[in-house]
Amino acid sequence: MAPLACIPAALSAGCASRTGPLCTEKAAATSVVWDYEAVANHGGIDGLAVEARFAPMAAGALRVDDDAAPFVRDVAYAKGEAWVGVEAREASWSVPCASGCRVRYRYGLGEAAAKLNDPETAIGTRDVIVAPPATWLLRPDAAGGRFRLHVTIDRPWRFASAMPVPPGAATETFEAPTESLGYSSFAAFGAFDVDAIQRGTLRANVAIAPGLAPLSPADVTRWVATAVDGILAYYGRPFVDRVLVIVLPGAPGDPTRGETLGAAGPAVLVRAAPGLTPAALRDDWVVTHELLHVSLPSLGPEHAWLSEGIATYVEPVVRARTGLVTHEVYWRELVEGLPQGLPEAGDRGLERTNTWGRTYWGGALFCFVADIAIREQTRNTRSFDDALRGIVAAGADVEAHWTVERFIEVGDRATGTAALAELYRSMALAPGTIDLASLWQRLGVHVESGKVTFDDRAPLAPIRRAMTDGQVLE
Ligand SMILES: [Zn+2]
Repeated sequence: MAPLACIPAALSAGCASRTGPLCTEKAAATSVVWDYEAVANHGGIDGLAVEARFAPMAAGALRVDDDAAPFVRDVAYAKGEAWVGVEAREASWSVPCASGCRVRYRYGLGEAAAKLNDPETAIGTRDVIVAPPATWLLRPDAAGGRFRLHVTIDRPWRFASAMPVPPGAATETFEAPTESLGYSSFAAFGAFDVDAIQRGTLRANVAIAPGLAPLSPADVTRWVATAVDGILAYYGRPFVDRVLVIVLPGAPGDPTRGETLGAAGPAVLVRAAPGLTPAALRDDWVVTHELLHVSLPSLGPEHAWLSEGIATYVEPVVRARTGLVTHEVYWRELVEGLPQGLPEAGDRGLERTNTWGRTYWGGALFCFVADIAIREQTRNTRSFDDALRGIVAAGADVEAHWTVERFIEVGDRATGTAALAELYRSMALAPGTIDLASLWQRLGVHVESGKVTFDDRAPLAPIRRAMTDGQVLE
């Protein structure tokens, strides 16, 4: 199935990695310069009461994301024992803070979710609200240091976030670099089930909203675990330390949707159409697609063709190797899908043609052609899998921000070829010409009226088999 609704993962501008050895920008100082206490009323549905302490700063102008500003209420700063109210000016609140300051305000979280209904700011149901902290934490411009957040929420309600928990901290306490707050990933408030999937050093926390029947929470956890296990098998190693997956009921009739945000802890939001059955989840590609985004460094929105192309190309590979997709279905969908990624008249290469077809299927075409090139050049002993394994082995996940040049260099080094660099020049910086009919012929794949047959005497038949089997000839 064609990807329909994936927001590119690369929303983390700048360096948001907390420890990444690959992060080339200056390391954030370890001191906490913004300290937040948030009390979630009625599980956050009735809003938040927030008190914050800020270290001394020259300009005390506080903001949230622009769309989220109308839901900030009753901002005041402490003056001795008293609280002094502050009015908003152009969605900004100025407080005297030359020697540090204490600020309190309320945030209409439930109202924001109802009115904005947008996963990047606030979205939710009667029971659960998902909103990145960038929506509801007033902040000055980032200036090094870390922020700390403590959330008070009474059971049965819960708070879930992918943000790092400092060692020895009280429950519901998180810390991250101030630079990451403006791009922070999903957090959830409300009445949801939580489950955890632990695979070696990889921990995936799953927050499961009510309203997903006939799916049970156990069905949802199994769905996420299947995707985690498929990608673990693909890489042969844990591809991230921690990830939060939040599953909300979606709009009736809508397909399953997924979005990934990376800064201050990667999180995936999945909206599942009501009425999905456990059997239907077997055919669903969304969680695997999003977790592949989680596994790889952010390349920035301008290189979405590469991050979306990889997720589009590798997701069915992962599911074919775990037996969730038959080889026939795998090849039929590739034969039917890839032509949507071919350049049309006026194309300026993948880097400069931002259409849906070129982003998703054009990017997938790049990966497919690269996979065959690497396998041909290495007598099928290396593949596109190895390029991605090399990148993941370098310690990068979606929290790290890489240039496309670095991505290609590390990928090529892992296969001992220059396949990615050469194809980047011919397909990304220029329209490129790919003869798909000839490739199907050489691979021995024939699709007629939706029926797939394979020719084992075709010259690239061993490569075709290795692509779905995951084995290479040594
Ligand atoms: Zn995607």
